[in-house]
Amino acid sequence: MPRPIRAAISSGAIAHNLSVARRHAGSAKVWAVIKANAYGHGLERAARAAVGADGLAVLDFDEAARLRHAGVAQPILMLEGAFEPADVALLVQHRLTPVIHRREQIEMLAGASAPLDVYLKVNSGMNRLGFAGEELAAAYQSLADHPRVNSLTLMTHFADADGATGIAAQLERFANLTKSFGGARSLANSAALIRFPEARGDWVRPGIMLYGCSPFSERSAEALGLRPAMTLTTEIIATQQLRAGEGVGYGLGFKAERPMRIGVIACGYADGYPRHAPAGTPALVNGRRTGIVGRVSMDMITLDLSAMPEAGIGAPVTLWGQGLSADEVAAAAGTLSYELLCALAPRVPVVEVP
Ligand SMILES: *Cc1c(COP(=O)(O)O)cnc(C)c1O
Repeated sequence: MPRPIRAAISSGAIAHNLSVARRHAGSAKVWAVIKANAYGHGLERAARAAVGADGLAVLDFDEAARLRHAGVAQPILMLEGAFEPADVALLVQHRLTPVIHRREQIEMLAGASAPLDVYLKVNSGMNRLGFAGEELAAAYQSLADHPRVNSLTLMTHFADADGATGIAAQLERFANLTKSFGGARSLANSAALIRFPEARGDWVRPGIMLYGCSPFSERSAEALGLRPAMTLTTEIIATQQLRAGEGVGYGLGFKAERPMRIGVIACGYADGYPRHAPAGTPALVNGRRTGIVGRVSMDMITLDLSAMPEAGIGAPVTLWGQGLSADEVAAAAGTLSYELLCALAPRVPVVEVP
């Protein structure tokens, strides 16, 4: 018998969430962002589920090649463009759309054997990738005149579309920096797409919302009409009875204040569960909420079953997904659903469900 842990990935949920993104996008086209193994959901699987997207966005060249080998015909956006001159042959071979965010990438384009659609990344204030000021004007000119550039789209990325600062300053900066330039515009991640209709532009780039999680700490995925795409489940594999004052797990840092019944489940940080999740981080047993107690170890987690005398060996446990948002588990563990989803370990068997 394999360990009972499973990740069920719902292609229907991804397709549904894409339709929600499309509704927000209005007439803008949609890049489904499936970088990082589709945020842990499986690259090819997510591409199949997102067949209704206008294009797919990744950043690893092997992911782009896998998509083409899987028969993906849509445009593929390479979010960080070429890393070295040899990548340019792959851009041409696989008909990829590279982001250009630094000078050297423009020079590399000279090596292209056919024209490419390119995205020019504008640094509107996030200060991670892209050009601004005179460098931007020079980059725009050299790309607009470039014999290997078929079309040129202007792109930027927001630092705080989900937060208190919002996007107003970056949007204004972007508009000023690009006002004399032609070409399509691509600005919005999930948070900006949902929250700021004025930032739709011509192409939007939703990621996290496709997987049924919320980009906002104060608005739930459910309230946004999203369905969780990944449900991580396991079972109770042992139970223990603690007396008052006894500890559980490594370090014995958690001490029972009164007699407690404990369930040991087949899931640990080697499966991608966050090791720093504190006592009280929610989980569902038989569909009912309880919390973890003691430290998360590599292969096991202990849950409080004191109020669930009926839950024994083999009782089903949900770590996140259907019935318990990964956003909520992530918040309890001091991280984001993005990190939980991406961290799903290769050893966890995945089943695809409708
Ligand atoms: C990852 C990424 C996105 C998607 O962001 P979400 O917050 O997951 O919607 C969009 N644009 C760029 C440039 C990205 O790197």
